[in-house]
Amino acid sequence: MRPIVISDKFDGGNISVIDASDPLNIQLEIKPDNASDFFQWFYFRLEGEVGQTCRIHITNAGQASYTDGWKDYKVCTSWSREDWFRTNTEYNNGILSFDITLEQNAVYFSFFQPFSHERHLDLLSWAQEDARLSLETLGQSLDGHAMSLLHISGTDTPQHTVWLIARQHPGETMAEWFVEGLLEALLDRDNSQATQLLQTTEFYIVPNMNPDGSVRGNLRTNAAGANLNREWQSPTMEYSPEVYLVREKMLAVGGDLFLDIHGDEALPYNFVAGCEGNPSYNDYHARLECVFKEAFMQISADFQDEVGYPKTPAGKANLTIAANWLGEQFKTLAFTIEMPFKDNANLPNPRTGWSASRSAQLGKDVLFPIRATLAILDS
Ligand code: ZN
Repeated sequence: MRPIVISDKFDGGNISVIDASDPLNIQLEIKPDNASDFFQWFYFRLEGEVGQTCRIHITNAGQASYTDGWKDYKVCTSWSREDWFRTNTEYNNGILSFDITLEQNAVYFSFFQPFSHERHLDLLSWAQEDARLSLETLGQSLDGHAMSLLHISGTDTPQHTVWLIARQHPGETMAEWFVEGLLEALLDRDNSQATQLLQTTEFYIVPNMNPDGSVRGNLRTNAAGANLNREWQSPTMEYSPEVYLVREKMLAVGGDLFLDIHGDEALPYNFVAGCEGNPSYNDYHARLECVFKEAFMQISADFQDEVGYPKTPAGKANLTIAANWLGEQFKTLAFTIEMPFKDNANLPNPRTGWSASRSAQLGKDVLFPIRATLAILDS
């Protein structure tokens, strides 16, 4: 019998092998982010004999950052690296366990369907084939990755500016799948809503706010250990250049609507978190938020407003969080959009759970609430 071989030596990989000598008792641990204690993202390849059954235990799951994330969790699994499906898990005594019978020698497992750096570079290139889009490098991350900004406009005199940033938390790969879908819809000349929107509105999009963490296989932080979504009040080039560079550009060009795309480990729903705790929050902001959410629910049955984070008391907002800082700075709508790692419990898909393609579809659908909200700004 050939030995089990496990590898994470690829873009975004994360696992360490404790003991793989017994296929029915393979013990693995998730590595913490390179410069912080956060961990939950994993992504690895397992190789063995065809027909062999393996039982895998992630033995440090109970110390992961969001242990509610393991409740009813199903692991993303792929033979082809293109088609991903879910495998049931058990979570007992802090150990996450699952089984696989090998249909071919190698199988991949991950916390959510990966979005590779190569795919990120592909996205930046295919999007540029549209003359309405331009690419700008704002500067470099600590590992030397380009901080890439896309600008899309169908007019030289836009009336509105929309900002959308994704993947401040690198393990939340659904955020970049969302951006990929949104870009496909926005640049589709057969999409009348998008074409019309671009006649009046410019978009600034950062598809990946945390390329270093993404390549390193981190869950939540950049190469220096910074949680970028706690850096918005006072970012520095030494610790959080990703936020510093994007924030400077935002201050230079302004904006009417800001969206920050994330994934939530525990809650099996799509939802938004708003700025109700901001010092300057008022009825006008509340109305913008309401219009956005109502329109989002009209276009997508995957979006809901029943379950989400607890509301922040008035004046108690944490202004180090991107959406709060942006809403306060620009006195307009700023939302964090959260997608599930597990599934949408209101509309579950047992085979795939929440998936890359469903994230992309939600990204396409978000154009509708953006348009509805901008219409309020015009009225
Ligand atoms: Zn996040």
